Amino acid sequence: MKKNRHGILQMPIRRPKKVPTVEIDYWDRLRETVYSRSQHCYYCGRYLLFLEFTVDHICPRALGGRDHLDNLATCCEKCNNLKGQLTLEEFRIAFENFYNRNLFYYEQEKLTELGQSPK
Ligand SMILES: [Zn+2]
Repeated sequence: MKKNRHGILQMPIRRPKKVPTVEIDYWDRLRETVYSRSQHCYYCGRYLLFLEFTVDHICPRALGGRDHLDNLATCCEKCNNLKGQLTLEEFRIAFENFYNRNLFYYEQEKLTELGQSPK
């Protein structure tokens, strides 16, 4: 630590951080990319307009999930609220009770792709 001209120790001056406008742009672009990838809710499969879709963290942020495309999915508000900070397996149980259906949309899609009929 430096002494000032009066011989008093001075804390180093920290400049205030810049307002993170770049990060907001980044998130907007990420949102657009998520939506362009799929316009259906990842879980229930409902078709969503750009104005109504939300972005879900498949592994919740609270559990260490990142803001990365691999961890982000188009999601309706209902599913997003229901999912909250649950893990996928916990959410599966909540989903099953709520929608009375045990397969997520993305799993149905995968089965259909493989030529098997979803349950
Ligand atoms: Zn949904």
